Amino acid sequence: MENDTNNKKRNYIFGPVPSRRLGRSLGVDLVPFKTCSYDCVYCQLGRTTNKTTQRKEWVPLTDVIDQLKDHLYLKPDYITLSGSGEPTLFSKLEELILKIKEISDTPVAVLTNGSLLWLPEVRYALNNADMVIPSLDAGSNRVFQYVNRPHPDITFSKMLQGLVDFRSFFRGQYWLEVFLLAGVTTPQAEIVKLKSCIDLIQPDLVQINTVTRPPAEDYAEQVPKNQLEEIAIQLFERAEIIADYRNVHKEEDFTARREDILILLQRRPCSIEDIAAGLGLHRNEVVKYIEELSAEGRIETKRQNQMLYYKALT
Ligand code: SF4
Repeated sequence: MENDTNNKKRNYIFGPVPSRRLGRSLGVDLVPFKTCSYDCVYCQLGRTTNKTTQRKEWVPLTDVIDQLKDHLYLKPDYITLSGSGEPTLFSKLEELILKIKEISDTPVAVLTNGSLLWLPEVRYALNNADMVIPSLDAGSNRVFQYVNRPHPDITFSKMLQGLVDFRSFFRGQYWLEVFLLAGVTTPQAEIVKLKSCIDLIQPDLVQINTVTRPPAEDYAEQVPKNQLEEIAIQLFERAEIIADYRNVHKEEDFTARREDILILLQRRPCSIEDIAAGLGLHRNEVVKYIEELSAEGRIETKRQNQMLYYKALT
């Protein structure tokens, strides 16, 4: 826990945030910022500052549970273990999920990069979740190294075997996210390799994603929608492109403070629409808060694909 002693007032809970898959998702952040086993070129959080495979209680379990209890009144659609790094690096994951089950009926989802599923203890911990969404962004070691830049302990074959083994173990919903990059994962030979990996894993659903927010590396480029649609058909019979959240999320009437916006922007860059949908605020109200936060120098602006995104300056 020593990694978090300098930051005793840290918020481990964020949102509910607009999730393209999980509706209003109450996020739980289980590791310090950018503590991850990967350093993906497309990461919306920027480059990984602590690349590790060490599993430990990176944040105090009791604080996480106490803060979570305080947020349950928000009635999220999901409690989502994700945040600013890889959640399976949190060694008390099994205890945490079981505790959430005791205090809430809200389903638990885990967004993971899937890199540690070859460890039996990680499979046991995740087995208590309702939904597990791992990633698979490459069908070959060469592309895996290029896109995910994994910790040296993680080989492509170990990672893939973990994803396959968890399928036969887990009874909940098992969705696979495939993040594609133009010119890297889109050549036909790579798609064929990816497809054979997905066929081995046999997830319930495959969700195809691409760059829509500022990536860690400028050379990580978006795949055009029509190409993504063609690839989705090839990859898996139950494959879908993750819909733009703003088209599917209903407006909700709940309040949020300026600090909530800042906490959200510390986790990931968002557009005005993302913030409005996630925090149940009117767009104009968000614009006012954003102007104030900009004037105070607490956030910065970045343009991506004609859209403006805001990010907290830490
Ligand atoms: S995208 Fe996820 S797995 Fe990749 S570096 Fe960022 S936090 Fe880690």
